[in-house]
Parts: sequence; C-alpha cells; structure tokens
Amino acid sequence: MVSRVIPVDPFDLVIFGGTGDLARRKILPGLYRRHLDGQMPDDARIIGAARGDMDTDGYRTFVESAVREFVSKKKCNPKVLKSFLERLRFVQLDATGKQGWTDLKDVVRQDIVQAFYFSVGPSLFGPIAERLHTHGIAGPTARIVVEKPFGHDEASARALNASLAKHFDEYQIYRIDHYLGKETVQNLMALRFGNMLFEPLWNAQYVDHIQITVAETVGVEGRGSYYDKSGAMRDMVQNHLMQLLCLTAMEPPSKFEPNAVRDEKLKIIRALDPVATDDIVRGQYRGNDDVASYLEDAETGASTTESFVAMKLQISNWRWNGTPFYLRTGKRMRGRMSEIVVRFKEPPHSIFDEDTGQSANELSIRLQPNEGMDLKVTIKEPGLGGMRLIDVPLDMTFADALGEEAADAPDAYERLIMDVIRGNQTLFMRGDEVEAAWAWTDPIIAGWQDRGDKPKLYDPFSTGPEEALMLLHKDGRRWREIRE
Ligand code: NAD
Repeated sequence: MVSRVIPVDPFDLVIFGGTGDLARRKILPGLYRRHLDGQMPDDARIIGAARGDMDTDGYRTFVESAVREFVSKKKCNPKVLKSFLERLRFVQLDATGKQGWTDLKDVVRQDIVQAFYFSVGPSLFGPIAERLHTHGIAGPTARIVVEKPFGHDEASARALNASLAKHFDEYQIYRIDHYLGKETVQNLMALRFGNMLFEPLWNAQYVDHIQITVAETVGVEGRGSYYDKSGAMRDMVQNHLMQLLCLTAMEPPSKFEPNAVRDEKLKIIRALDPVATDDIVRGQYRGNDDVASYLEDAETGASTTESFVAMKLQISNWRWNGTPFYLRTGKRMRGRMSEIVVRFKEPPHSIFDEDTGQSANELSIRLQPNEGMDLKVTIKEPGLGGMRLIDVPLDMTFADALGEEAADAPDAYERLIMDVIRGNQTLFMRGDEVEAAWAWTDPIIAGWQDRGDKPKLYDPFSTGPEEALMLLHKDGRRWREIRE
C-alpha cells in the first residue's frame, strides 16, 4: 500500500501548557512523528508557552526526552530528531498576567497559518483568548484548539463558549475529542456511508440493539482529585461515548464536511430521551490485596463519585424508534477495550431445525485493542452430520489486513493537529453540540444528587456491578464479553 502523506502549509503552532503532561505524552511526540513522515514544511515551527522558568535550549532538551520516552525506538532517528528540535522555540509566559505576551508577539509570524493549542485547564481558556486578541497576536484566520473538559455542566460550557466567542469565530475554534481522531471512528463513517451493504439495514427494523463499551483497567490513581469532581458521566459519557453514539446513529450527512456532519450529530443528541432511573447504573470500584479502592485512589473518605456507569438509551426518531443503545464505561474493569457493537435481528423465519444453532449477525467496531472490525456471520459447520450452523467472524484487524502501515497509523492527536493546520473542523465538536450534550447530562447528575444516590460497589478487574448485567438481562440481552 502506498503511503500518502500530504504536506501541510507552513505554520506556527503555539502550545500553551507546552511543558505539561499532555504536551509531553501526546502532542509533542505526535508532532515529531508528523515531522518524521515529512508532513511538515521546512518553515513550520512549534512554540512552547508556559509559566515555567525555561528557555528555548531547555525546552529542546525537555522535548527531546519526551520524544525518546513516548516514540518507539525504531522511529527515534537522531538526525531527524535534531531537525525536529530546531523547529522549537519557548516563551515563558503567564496566561493570566502580563508577563511574556510581547515576547510571544515577537515570535509568532502573521503571514502564516497560526494555531494556538490551549493545553491548559479550562479556567485559562478565556484569559488566553483575550490576551491573544488584545496583544494583536492572533490574526483573523488563526485557529485555537481547546482541550477537555469543556465545562462541567451546560452553564459552564456556555460561559466558556461565550468567553472564546468574544475574540474568535466558531470556524476558528477546534474543541478536541481525541476519540474522533481514532482511525476506527473514521472507518465507521467509511463503512456506513461508503458501502451499500450496511446502511439499508442500519435502523430499527433490522438492528436489535447497539452496545458501546469503553472499559479501562487503570484506576484513577494520580488523577484522583480531578476525577472525583467529575466521575465517569462527565469524564467519559458526556463527550467520548456521546460522540461515538452520534456517529453510529446519525443520518447520512449530505457531505463529509464539518457543518454537515456536526448538524447530524447534534440532531441525535437532541433526539435522546431522558434516561429513566431504572435504566442507569453507577458503580465504584473496590480494592483488593493488589490494588487500592476508588476511595483510596481518590484520597477521599466518603465520595459518591462513580468510576463506572452503564445505561440504556432511546433515540426518539424515525430510524431508531424501539432500538435501545446500551452504553457502559468504567475504570478497573476486566480488560482494556473500546468497541461499538451493532447486533442485528435474527432472520424472521428459520428454515432450519431449532437445534441447528442459528443466531444473529453482529458487527463490532473495535477502537482498542487491535483496531479493526469484525462481522459475525452464520455458516454451516464444515463436515458430515447434517446441517449444523456455527458463527464465524469475518475479521478485519487493520494491522493484519492492511499491513504495517495500518499498525503504524498516526495516533488521534497527531491526526487532529494536522486537521487544525489544514483548517478542517469535521472531527471537532461545535459549541452547540457540547452544550446540547451537557443539557442532556445535567438532569441525570442532578437526579443522583437530589436522591442522594450511592454508586454500587464492584470488584476490581470485573465487568462492573451486578446491576449493570441486569440492565440487559431484563431485556433478554447480554453485554459483550470484556476480554482480559
Ligand atoms: P499539567 O498540569 O501537566 O500542565 C499544565 C501546563 O500549563 C504546564 O505547562 C504549566 O506551565 C501551564 N500553566 C499552568 N498555569 C499557567 C499559567 N497561569 N500561565 C502559563 N502557563 C500555565 O496539565 P496537563 O495534564 O498537560 O493538562 C492540560 C489540559 O489538557 C487540561 O485541561 C487537562 O484537563 C487536559 N487533558 C489532559 C490529558 C492528559 O492526559 N494529561 C488528557 C486529556 C485532556
């Protein structure tokens, strides 16, 4: 397969929070890989901006160690790394004060693509946007990239949108949800809208139900104080799972173009029914001899924050009326697994004997591990002995099917940053989408608070609380297995 890396236009990318954890682990290693692949023109530059006491030489040393730590050895070519480091500058700056802003203005070029990545906490979004404007640093086509969490409820998301809108138009604002940058998520759209095979069946008439699972084995260790104010609902469902749900359920957009796609996603969020109390289960992990409990990890004595949530959703529109969507996400689960599973209905009439083993088709779209898809189909068991049916997967693990290049596909962050430079907002959330997602989430969280709801405890490395299994059992269905 021939690789097609299309170089982007020359740019200045400023990373506010350029010495932070996200910059070190994801953004800078990702940029190095784009440099290695030849996607960056010679005069593209990356400018770290943070309040730490550092200069450009110190920043280059910092970035070099980040690349060595987070990029595979095979890709750490010393000559390439040296030329990457030459792209870097550092400006020491206070996001909420005066220090550093004229220095930044001197460094950032005007006649070039300008991108400003706000890799800082949301309380700094407004102050940075304002200073970029008042110091005349950001030109009329500058792009700003903002990280999650984009607010903690509808009111705060609206306030954040308003603080950015004072200085930037919506077409300049890129709200990152890195799930949208994953190869498989884009493949979901290719699968649905690039084939004739699936879309005619993609509705309540043929789909029994859909499951979306994002399971992690890690706990909240290290992030406890942040996570405890958030919980799985705010940290995962409102953004990542909601985006996966939207892309799975939306109508075909007229074009693969930012506003056409985002309009369709928004319609799904607005068509979500409120969730009945019985249709949602919250959980919190226990500890065992090897790992701490949530309460120990979060360092709080008596938190009722959920580290797991499972729910049954209904979308009130023509396409999905009567087809439930089951969502679950949790920490300290049995395996690390993210997938979307579309379970089709069984054929309306079986021509085979009842005990032949016929079952329903299932399409699963794996985000991790082993990005890929498989379709469970029923065939005849080979051999003599009459007609016995078995399910076999038509498996397309991208790395197997498409070779090394697929295994080495750019990670979500690097893909999304290059989209920012290209000015393509398709895989970013629009302000109204984020507000609508919060508007749907807020009453659920408020209900828990009003009722003094306590999460059900579950064992570490399990599938979550028993009640989450019951959520499907009572509908005569089962969750997909979470593999270790
Ligand atoms: P961090 O605490 O590791 O780094 C914060 C950075 O911001 C540092 O470079 C610091 O110097 C800079 N900074 C803080 N206050 C400043 C000020 N007043 N003026 C100038 N610079 C200032 O944080 P992080 O983990 O890198 O996270 C950054 C943002 O990205 C947060 O909003 C976080 O929620 C989000 N995020 C992080 C991750 C992750 O994996 N770390 C994942 C998703 C989203």
